[in-house]
Amino acid sequence: MGYIYKHGKFNENTWLIDAVYKNSEGIQVRNGHAAYLLQTEDGANCLINSGARSGAQSIYKKLKRIGAWPLQKLILTHSHWDHTQGVIYFREKVEEEGIVPIEIFASEKAIPYLRDQSYNICFEADTWYSEFLNIEEVKPLKGKEKIYLSDEFSLEIIETPGHMPDHISVYDEKNKSVFVGDTPGMHWFTNFFVCNSNSIYWKKKDYLESIEKLKSLDLDYLCIAHFGVLTESDIIRFLDNSISM
Ligand SMILES: [Zn+2]
Repeated sequence: MGYIYKHGKFNENTWLIDAVYKNSEGIQVRNGHAAYLLQTEDGANCLINSGARSGAQSIYKKLKRIGAWPLQKLILTHSHWDHTQGVIYFREKVEEEGIVPIEIFASEKAIPYLRDQSYNICFEADTWYSEFLNIEEVKPLKGKEKIYLSDEFSLEIIETPGHMPDHISVYDEKNKSVFVGDTPGMHWFTNFFVCNSNSIYWKKKDYLESIEKLKSLDLDYLCIAHFGVLTESDIIRFLDNSISM
């Protein structure tokens, strides 16, 4: 049994980062949105998901504290605001500091949704930044494509639609970790699951196929966006519970 939900490093290359944000009642939410940092032995930094704009401020502070800023790469699992709008904040910081721009990646299917983020209006929004700003200049990814963080360290893209048609997961074979965003749904507290079929974009058939893809991977860590890291027998327990929900 294993469920990691505290901010920090959990294997040789990976940190769970709590993107603290404010909800619609203005209350600070901890352990609500996760971003994940991958750092290679030679110091390349790649973030999986940016958080919301308010969340990105908190991620930025944490990255600085652990010596993981600047970022070289940022991969977005899908185009929902709570995982993308932080890009705006990170780009502002890059501009302010006059450093090399971060390479931003997402599924090729996410590009039009990132270009027009207004569809996010149907969701509960970040009270600090209620406007959804469009995100351009994102590098498109296809399923099975590899992203090299260093000569030795690569990540594989897996298409995992269902929650959103543009959803991808990111597989780190070296550490047997997969970053699944919202693909299987949410896990809050010790035993609260929601499979997160929360919009008109939801496709049950795609979701079920995506869960099977995740179940077929050799895994030690399943890293979800809301919130934390499932390990050992909890990986399959969580995926099976998500389907039964
Ligand atoms: Zn989502």
